[in-house]
Amino acid sequence: MTLVQGAGGNISVKTDKTLWIKASGTWLAKAMSESIFSAVALDCVRARIALGQADPASAELLDISPHGLRPSIETGLHALMPHAVVMHLHSVDAIALGVCEDGMARLSHRLEGLAWAWVSYVQPGQPLTEAIRQALGHAAVDVLVLANHGVVLGAESVASARLLLDNLVRRLRQGPHQSQSPAPAANLEKLRKLGQNTLYDPAPHPRLHAMATDLRQFAIATAGTLYPDHAVFLGPAAIELRSGQLISTLIAERAHAGLGPPKLLLVPEAGVLIRNDLSAGELAMLECLALVLSRIPQDASVRYLADTDVKALLSWDAEKYRRHLDQQQELPSLHHRAHSLP
Ligand SMILES: [Zn+2]
Repeated sequence: MTLVQGAGGNISVKTDKTLWIKASGTWLAKAMSESIFSAVALDCVRARIALGQADPASAELLDISPHGLRPSIETGLHALMPHAVVMHLHSVDAIALGVCEDGMARLSHRLEGLAWAWVSYVQPGQPLTEAIRQALGHAAVDVLVLANHGVVLGAESVASARLLLDNLVRRLRQGPHQSQSPAPAANLEKLRKLGQNTLYDPAPHPRLHAMATDLRQFAIATAGTLYPDHAVFLGPAAIELRSGQLISTLIAERAHAGLGPPKLLLVPEAGVLIRNDLSAGELAMLECLALVLSRIPQDASVRYLADTDVKALLSWDAEKYRRHLDQQQELPSLHHRAHSLP
């Protein structure tokens, strides 16, 4: 959960001329029980990247791929890394540091001695592939920290990738802030009352409420969108249910503006209400958001995605496909959800 969530993150392996890459919308967590890897022709994908093609992978899907899978929308990034094994992770620690305005400086001492580079935020897909091409052109690197997004690491074998991953996890570990007193508990009675006869229920785990009961987390959560999967699965920023405001009024106001009911509602000092029809992927992203918010350094200024970035993500066909697959995932039981947090 702290490294990948739902359909996010991906892993690839290069064998001869083939790049095996996690397919779009599939869950790494299901790798042992389902076919989740698709195969593409590596040289041809690289040639298409050099031509600046928006989707360098789909046309290069090989027949050996399991039927019906599309290569990840982040295939370009994997093809460009020269390493045999590449992992791209939406690590909550990397995101929490990567959303800081001074994230690069904060990371420079943590990652000292590693061959690493910082990549400023650009949209996933072709713009990110291009930014990575440029970063790799300057120096040989094994680790890329993608601002407001996550981390990429490359190694020559699965064993060395594992070692590098363990090393990175140790160096990036943020932990929830120890110095700070824990966030106040949720007011479940108030949340239940507010949610009565609506599509909203209190969030299913105590830790999820901190983004509404902790003042700093609330301010960050409602001020903007932090990273791509936040926008894609939960919608931009997080919406506040203001004091005295009814959920029906808020939904009506949004409908008037052409917006649907938000996936989550933050009730200041009381907790988080979530829609009762959230998919498994959306719940995983909610847990990710809570973990990221609890790890953003107390003294940091936060950088959000620009409105144009969020609009680009929400209108991107490749992301619509991932959301469509997400709606078809089996919903884990409430019991499982409540225990899926580390
Ligand atoms: Zn990503």
